[in-house]
Amino acid sequence: KPLLSLRAVGKTFSNGVTALSNVDMTIREGDFLSLLGPSGCGKSTALRIIAGLTAPTTGTLDWSRKPGEESSVGFVFQEPTLLPWASVFDNVWLPLRLKGVSRSDAAPAVSQLLERVHLSGFENAVPRELSGGMKMRVSIARALVTKPRVLLMDEPFAALDEITRFKLNNDLLELWQDERFTVVFVTHSVFESVFLSNRIVVMAARPGRVFQEVEVDAPYPRD
Ligand code: ADP
Ligand code: ADP
Repeated sequence: KPLLSLRAVGKTFSNGVTALSNVDMTIREGDFLSLLGPSGCGKSTALRIIAGLTAPTTGTLDWSRKPGEESSVGFVFQEPTLLPWASVFDNVWLPLRLKGVSRSDAAPAVSQLLERVHLSGFENAVPRELSGGMKMRVSIARALVTKPRVLLMDEPFAALDEITRFKLNNDLLELWQDERFTVVFVTHSVFESVFLSNRIVVMAARPGRVFQEVEVDAPYPRD
């Protein structure tokens, strides 16, 4: 069932650049949707509009939500942006802490997520002690800890070496197949979009628009 619809969304920046033009897109609950397209076609802008970080110039966003529910999003950037002086545990706790959840009340959820991203045993490490892949895993756990309605990922693995990227793709797919949270994943990698998603929205540049929507029959089989 639909979670969010973008209707005729357009974005023109104050410098006159039109990043998006007349974009229609529906994100369904449980979708792993990839936004695929060349650099500059407006993928990040679309993601920032969904996150509420940028206002669209034209068009509307319709969240289908139960009354009283927040339309919260989790965001994973290419740079993990962890608090450098805080432990892995405290980094993942942070979004709950900002909602007033104590460290001990947060502990079960934080531990469970750290286990899911294969970081059990690293609770007390600080970011500089971790590899790039491990920092990304912390970032994913932090984004999921509040159980957001949608997890937004902006080329999250683009800066990682190929082997780490491959492992993270596998583990993200496994996590999604087990938990079925909703993901919008920005990538310019055809491999990633086909491997990870059940729907691919292909975007074209000049100006940013939806070129084609591809329904991937079944999620990629796990071996
Ligand atoms: P993508 O993520 O697909 O690479 P972006 O959404 O980052 O594309 O950018 C789409 C277009 O909008 C590009 O031409 C980019 O230069 C432009 N753009 C992005 N952000 C801004 C901004 N804050 N001000 C002006 N132009 C921007
Ligand atoms: P991945 O993200 O797929 O685990 P990484 O390149 O991040 O790949 O790390 C590979 C493995 O090396 C990790 O799973 C971890 O067990 C180990 N490792 C990396 N950096 C450290 C570190 N600073 N301290 C302890 N173990 C580490």
